[in-house]
Amino acid sequence: MKAALLTIGNEVLSGKTLNTNSQFLSKSLNGLGFDVIEQITIPDDETMIITALNRLLKDVTLVVTTGGLGPTYDDITIPTIAKALGCDLVLHEEVIRDIEEKFKRFGRKMGDNNRSQAYFPSKAVVLGNPVGTAPGMYLAHEGKIVVALPGPPRENIPMFNHETKPLLTAIQNQPIHLMDLVLFGIGESDVENMIQENLTVPGAVRLATYVKPLYVTVRLTATVQSLMLETMKALEALFGHHVVGKDDCLLEEKVYHLLKERGRTLSLAESCTGGLVSSLLVSVPGSSEILDGAFITYSNAYKTRELGVDPALIEAEGAVSEAVARAMVLGLKERSGSDYCLAITGIAGPGGETPQKKVGLTYIALKTPENLLVRKFQFFGDRNTIRLRGALNALNLIRLEILKESIE
Ligand code: AMP
Ligand code: MG
Repeated sequence: MKAALLTIGNEVLSGKTLNTNSQFLSKSLNGLGFDVIEQITIPDDETMIITALNRLLKDVTLVVTTGGLGPTYDDITIPTIAKALGCDLVLHEEVIRDIEEKFKRFGRKMGDNNRSQAYFPSKAVVLGNPVGTAPGMYLAHEGKIVVALPGPPRENIPMFNHETKPLLTAIQNQPIHLMDLVLFGIGESDVENMIQENLTVPGAVRLATYVKPLYVTVRLTATVQSLMLETMKALEALFGHHVVGKDDCLLEEKVYHLLKERGRTLSLAESCTGGLVSSLLVSVPGSSEILDGAFITYSNAYKTRELGVDPALIEAEGAVSEAVARAMVLGLKERSGSDYCLAITGIAGPGGETPQKKVGLTYIALKTPENLLVRKFQFFGDRNTIRLRGALNALNLIRLEILKESIE
């Protein structure tokens, strides 16, 4: 079923407010199996709202509007939708009582303009707003549906999730199944090419790729669950070690699970990432079971003091070198005794480049119970992108090594 978003609000057009509702709603509607084919943003202007709504309703079954539900004179969304569709407004007594109740609770007096928020087309389902005063609306009219939600995201999101979703799910005549496959270490265009060249996707399954900084997600939506699961299996086989996991699984969670399942511990020594690897891991609940600790050894002096790296080695090879990465990880192993130890050193930029060592050059050393390996990377991007690439590749290296050990 096709859908469109109609964002109404001068503040969005003036650039004062970032349109986060459209991202949230598009994502949510896609998740429910709607095909969102258009998003537009217009001012709180009656003629423009009517024109836009009528045009959108020619092409789609569902239009979701946001904004313009407040009690002030510029909030005209509900009466304007009613006018566009030719519906009369009637006073919904239960809404008045609800608004009165809210004002009483907050010890405030209800004004006449709040009364105006209780007028809706008679067929409208009024959507409750537990966080604010402005109710929303779900209106089914002549085979089309218009949903009006408030602008503030803290009201918009719960109203969509709790009040709107069940109504929209009910009108979808076919249940929609949805699954994500999270990939790392491969670009979006390679993912698309590989799918095109190697897979025949059944008609009941739709694939879309998304990029979340440094990850690529393949989203599967399907009307037949068994076909979705079959396609998922084929994708997992196709992408092999690039597969981090399903749905929201990120590298830090995967590493946490792999270490936890095996009862292993980890310590870190971070230079260019400045604690980012540890921070990602610590964001996973329960990470204290696998993470012993981390050194942030940013300066050369710290690398020597905390990890015992020989100053002469740093002098001879440079802090960003294979030899120093190896010395860092060995010093870390000696001090921590953790099962896995990882050290990372790199040039995050923009300064610090030499003719031999470009910005983005990074060494990651990993000491596993069986092995010692040092990998060289040449990352691209700005400072924080390079740091994030370093951190994610560090986690990825741990993941790949543990998976390799499990196969051997
Ligand atoms: P309104 O319901 O139009 O009176 O909007 C009230 C407030 O909600 C605005 O001042 C914004 O801060 C916020 N808001 C409105 N529309 C959006 C949107 N599309 N995305 C994010 N915030 C919004
Ligand atoms: Mg507004």
